Amino acid sequence: MPGYEIFGEEERRHINEVLDTGVLFRYEFGEQRKGIHKVREFEEKFAAYTSSTHAQAVTSGSAALKVALMALGIGPGDEVITQGFTFVATWEAILEIGAVPVFAEIDDTLNLDPDDIENKITDKTKCIVPVHMMGAPARIEEIVAIGEKHNIPILEDTAQATGGYLHGRHLGSFGACGTFSFDSVKTLTTGEGGMIITRNADLWRKMSEYHDHGHDHAENPGGRGADGRRFFGSNYRMMELQGAIGLGQLEKLDSLIATQRTNKARLKKILSDIPGVSFRTILDEAGDNASFVTFLLPTADESRRVNEVLRAHDCGAINFSENSWHYYTHWEHLLGEKSVTRSGYPFADVDGRRRIHYDVDALPKTAAILTRTLCYPINVKMDDAHFEKIKKAIVAISA
Ligand SMILES: *Cc1c(COP(=O)(O)O)cnc(C)c1O
Repeated sequence: MPGYEIFGEEERRHINEVLDTGVLFRYEFGEQRKGIHKVREFEEKFAAYTSSTHAQAVTSGSAALKVALMALGIGPGDEVITQGFTFVATWEAILEIGAVPVFAEIDDTLNLDPDDIENKITDKTKCIVPVHMMGAPARIEEIVAIGEKHNIPILEDTAQATGGYLHGRHLGSFGACGTFSFDSVKTLTTGEGGMIITRNADLWRKMSEYHDHGHDHAENPGGRGADGRRFFGSNYRMMELQGAIGLGQLEKLDSLIATQRTNKARLKKILSDIPGVSFRTILDEAGDNASFVTFLLPTADESRRVNEVLRAHDCGAINFSENSWHYYTHWEHLLGEKSVTRSGYPFADVDGRRRIHYDVDALPKTAAILTRTLCYPINVKMDDAHFEKIKKAIVAISA
């Protein structure tokens, strides 16, 4: 997911325009900003890129999740279904706004399993958050249909899938809204940053107001200080320099992904020589943002053995079932209900009554899939030596 590999003249040009005005704030500063609105322009271009009508820039992908959940009206007393294979940020955001994350299985897409969603729906379920992990889609059309049947909005965590499509539609644009991360290791990066896209003007207005202390952003003669407020908010504002970087990155996003696709195809071809190997189900190869190549062995033991050989050849793959930031059974702070608050909230009510309990063995299907799964990140710049090492290791595996 290497936006950081391609910084260059494009970003520099936009950044210099901001520095020339001296205005780092996205609002106000009338004359002084000389018509330069980088964050606003980034939002408009990102909305167009993702075929959405509205986009709200924020400070991070985590902020995007929180602002989106708040705008959807989610809070204490509500349950939010998500998957047990994601970055911790997904459920941190749910907990931080006082709601309860409920974990469902993944399927062969390595994303939320539609077949498990209805098992997890209760009368408290108020949102479903599928995560398009590693640049490729969940079965989002089926998930949206389940949401419609039960009248539950879908929030797509698209943090890892900027530039990813399903059947010609950008990921994040299927549900009520989609959130993106532009942190330092994502496909498009602004250092820190995030975005929410939607086609619902009302929902966008709530996000816009909530992310900026409730400001209604009305044109009024009293300026910003005289803005009205419908509800309290907070500060998740993106700054102009980040908007500038985002614009530069967006101009190059399609060519970045094209290069990743070429590199991925080359690596995938090499990996297909591993005896018994199969690949992650990608519902729409043409829409893959190609930030990872993911392959599976028939058993967990076989996957361990293959990775031992890869490691011995200095080209070990990632096994997410061993990774403590992305997989349910290793989230000891979640399973152990560890909160920084005195009361234990949000795991306990303010009166100390326990609200949530997690069972480490709750997701057997996810375990069965992830323990067989290995993957390599795909970069823009990839050394021939890396491919050669993997080739050699595979000869050893097959021997
Ligand atoms: C990176 C990431 C986030 C959080 O984004 P930040 O910008 O780092 O806060 C959320 N969800 C997923 C799946 C991510 O990979």
